[in-house]
Amino acid sequence: MTNNSEPKMFCYQCSQTAKGTGCTTQGVCGKTPTLDRLQDNLIFATKGMTAYLTHARELGLSDSEIDAYLERAFYSTFTNVNFDPENFIELALEAGRMNLKAMKMLKKAHIDRYGEPEPTEVQTGTKKGPAIIVTGHGLKALEELLKQTEGTGVNVYTHSEMLPAHGYPGLKKYKHLAGNLGKAWFDQKQLFSKYRAAILGTSNCVLIPKDEYKDRIFTTGAARLPDVPHIEGYDYSQVVEKAKALGGLEETEGETILTTGFSTSVVLSLADKIKELVETGKIKHFFLVGGCDSPGKKAGYYREFVEKLPSDTVVLTLACGKFRFNDLDLGSIDGIPRLIDLGQCNDAIVAIEIALALSELFQVGVNDLPLTLVLSWMEQKAIAILWTLLALGVKSIYVGPTPPAWVNEDILKVLQERYDLRLISNAEDDIAQILNN
Ligand code: SF4
Ligand code: SF4
Repeated sequence: MTNNSEPKMFCYQCSQTAKGTGCTTQGVCGKTPTLDRLQDNLIFATKGMTAYLTHARELGLSDSEIDAYLERAFYSTFTNVNFDPENFIELALEAGRMNLKAMKMLKKAHIDRYGEPEPTEVQTGTKKGPAIIVTGHGLKALEELLKQTEGTGVNVYTHSEMLPAHGYPGLKKYKHLAGNLGKAWFDQKQLFSKYRAAILGTSNCVLIPKDEYKDRIFTTGAARLPDVPHIEGYDYSQVVEKAKALGGLEETEGETILTTGFSTSVVLSLADKIKELVETGKIKHFFLVGGCDSPGKKAGYYREFVEKLPSDTVVLTLACGKFRFNDLDLGSIDGIPRLIDLGQCNDAIVAIEIALALSELFQVGVNDLPLTLVLSWMEQKAIAILWTLLALGVKSIYVGPTPPAWVNEDILKVLQERYDLRLISNAEDDIAQILNN
């Protein structure tokens, strides 16, 4: 949201642009600031979706309906094409529906290739020997690297959003998939400096490297960094050679053991038990807490939120937002873990499938379930997922740590009135508001 001293919009996409620099209060073409922001919203949501489409294509899947939608969505933001704010909300909801399809397609591609994830404990220490740290979301790149390092003595570690890879049978079968190092994406400068390992960035979120590790980081897939070797295709021999030349890591103990790999069918195999626990009052409420993490103190909200939840609640989580609290031991309720890691951000589809199944199980609408979504947003995938949830009719979602900057008062009002979208306040008040409703 803007204050009065900030430009209300910024558009410089055509030659009519004000003063030859940019339209900042109203478009010369007549575009209003709210329309401009709705167009930005659409672009951001479609950008988010393209990450999932790229990974699905890496695994051989694409969808012509989504491709056709993307053409329409981009074209609608051209100069002098579409001045209808209501239609941009409809296009954003359609982006949400297309993103649902994209996430389903990617999930299918992952499961077809690597099997259905299963709960798996993941070490956070290091083994003695040469090492490669893989960051990003590209499971295909990880698989190829695991094949090429098998039997070489090089250990492969995951970082950030790669953690859920450990749950897939087709990936966890590699014994040298040795563990997970670090937390969310923004610890990478410090983490990669600390470990004398080769590093492979497979997608977002990669950061411009520090000098300490600039000579041992590589990119592949969509990720690119200046003056860093980029590997087209899947021949990672230079990464493996670099890992060997670096000598390797020492044996260290991790501070915690993480558990990941709760797939839709694993959670739903517990459906009868969950129903019984809800009906007997042993489980009062489910929360989906997660999303894209961002640096800064404000995001400490999510750890505090989970820490302060009463012991008769269950937390589902996904994406790198989980690293704010996935070291917490929340225990279990009659054998049902209180902290359930569903996977990467695209595994929002798993959360959706579980919510729909619970809704069937309890014979109520999704909004009448004892379930609240408390999401963090950082970049464009989170926008795509938010519109997917809104398109599915999910209401009263809490979003933080700060609202997306393209949301002005007009847009926020619409999101609040139609979807009861809520901005996080403080953990204690939000928990009380949710549980006392
Ligand atoms: S499209 Fe409209 S708002 Fe954008 S630069 Fe051109 S005149 Fe300005
Ligand atoms: S969940 Fe979002 S913020 Fe986190 S690594 Fe993935 S894309 Fe980046």
